[in-house]
Amino acid sequence: MALTDFPRRGLMIVLSSPSGAGKTVISKELMKLEPLLSLSISATTREPRTGEENGVHYYFVSTDEFNSMKKNGELLEHAAVFGNFYGTPKKAVEKALSSGKDVLFDIDWQGTQQLAQKASQDLCRIFILPPSMEELGKRLVTRAQDSEEIIRNRMSKAADEMSHWPEYDYIIVNHDIEKSVHQIQSILIAERLKRERQTGLVSFVNNMRDEIEK
Ligand code: 5GP
Repeated sequence: MALTDFPRRGLMIVLSSPSGAGKTVISKELMKLEPLLSLSISATTREPRTGEENGVHYYFVSTDEFNSMKKNGELLEHAAVFGNFYGTPKKAVEKALSSGKDVLFDIDWQGTQQLAQKASQDLCRIFILPPSMEELGKRLVTRAQDSEEIIRNRMSKAADEMSHWPEYDYIIVNHDIEKSVHQIQSILIAERLKRERQTGLVSFVNNMRDEIEK
């Protein structure tokens, strides 16, 4: 169901958080509930984790492939995270936006800064914080898909990543997945209704005025 009565600019929604704050689960739930949302699938040079599928969770590419995507201008943004490269393929985002969909990005603060430089008008930045460092540690260990060394590395970087929260428009403390998803849905409703995003508003109001004057 369309939220507004007329065309509007597509929204680029960024979700960032330190690893283990629940961002991936939240974005999965959002995708189930929000038919107007399209998930941007990133390219990465990191190895797939168990259960991750090429083209579903990421496009798993070699460093050479990644570099050529970068060189050919195929990436909207890119960054090195935990020793691997990650980037957002441009084409899919443009296609989704032009077909009236909003796009959800699960990217880090470096990519968010690049999107803010390129498309600040269309951007809505949401940062997800864990309820505590203890909980973050537990979630990283429970996930147990990465080696102990990687987990330690990610924990030590979490504080770094968290320091970027003031660069975001909205902050969610993820005590409870359902509640966080609901809060993000509320943000989406408000952002979609912003005057400048409802591009058909002028003709809608003008038509009503014309009718009165008839
Ligand atoms: P993971 O390897 O755990 O899937 O992701 C590690 C980090 O890389 C996460 O913070 C995730 O948001 C970020 N990331 C994933 N894809 C991209 C991307 O395309 N660009 C940027 N800048 N960061 C990404």
